[in-house]
Amino acid sequence: MGRKQKLRQEKRNIKNKAAAAAAPEVTAAAADATTFSTEDAIAAAVCKKAEALKKTTAAAEVAAAADAATVSTEDTIAEAACKKAEALEEQLPKSDTYVQGFTNNITTREQFEFFQRGATEDACIHSMFRMGQMLTDAHLALPWFLEGAIRGSSKCTMILMLECYSLFKVPYREIKPYALQDYWGKINTYYTGASFVDDMKCLRGCVEQECAICSKTDTKTLTLQQCKGCSVYCYCSEGCQTIHWKEHKHRNECKQVQILNKYHKPYAKEIRDAVIRGDKEIPSLEKLRYKLGLTRPTEEYQEFFKRTYNGKEIDPDDYLVAREDGTVWVGSTPSSPIGTS
Ligand SMILES: [Zn+2]
Ligand SMILES: [Zn+2]
Repeated sequence: MGRKQKLRQEKRNIKNKAAAAAAPEVTAAAADATTFSTEDAIAAAVCKKAEALKKTTAAAEVAAAADAATVSTEDTIAEAACKKAEALEEQLPKSDTYVQGFTNNITTREQFEFFQRGATEDACIHSMFRMGQMLTDAHLALPWFLEGAIRGSSKCTMILMLECYSLFKVPYREIKPYALQDYWGKINTYYTGASFVDDMKCLRGCVEQECAICSKTDTKTLTLQQCKGCSVYCYCSEGCQTIHWKEHKHRNECKQVQILNKYHKPYAKEIRDAVIRGDKEIPSLEKLRYKLGLTRPTEEYQEFFKRTYNGKEIDPDDYLVAREDGTVWVGSTPSSPIGTS
């Protein structure tokens, strides 16, 4: 098997695991994402997504019960990682608004509003995760998964790694966020201990061993140079590096990875512990949120709520990786990420 072929195989493997383990509901809902501009349409989109979520959850439960004994080793590992992620998630406090979101006989819209309040007023991570799941557009969901992930949610981390920055979703795209996926992959390993480590390692090996642009590999006369910013990609020449940096927008991704390496990684445990304790003020978290642009004023990205940018309709997937300075395209404050109020 050639290297390229192997890389493709790895992508498929990760995709399969992602579908099987982490978030089938997101995949299903993302498949029928709809354009919306009015509030009703937004509500309808949320309902649609919730329906998909219910169906896949039910299906997953049935499947899990039926073949608990016959799963392959790979599935068992993925399943074990998910169980661990669930257990870790339970350590994080739940707000009253989050609990109210599960009141019987409320509408999906009402449920969404409870989660929205939980996420924005109470900084409840469980609410952030649910909000991210209920938002149909990936670019609007991303800041909520990111908010959850930087606070120590292993479930949000897995979604970032396997959904938002996944390779399989973007084979035809010029922007492939391997470095961001790699970052969250490592954080996930730090939380859950195992799971996707081997895949990530292999994938990383492939990225590290060939030029990101022309796929040249090391020879006796050529030694690939690594990107000094993120230490993920390799290049055969300055020319290839410049193409990757500018045309493929690695600049944007690399800047965000550098922000995360500097302001998240050393504080990840400290922040998570503070969240579990229920600290009202967490200075390292606030600094990180600012650096990532999550605290940017809504006016700056309001247009994205209507799925447009500079008056033109956008593909949400194009706005998952950072802006040029490494900050997010869409922030998470103040409280109305889908423009409902
Ligand atoms: Zn090259
Ligand atoms: Zn880089």
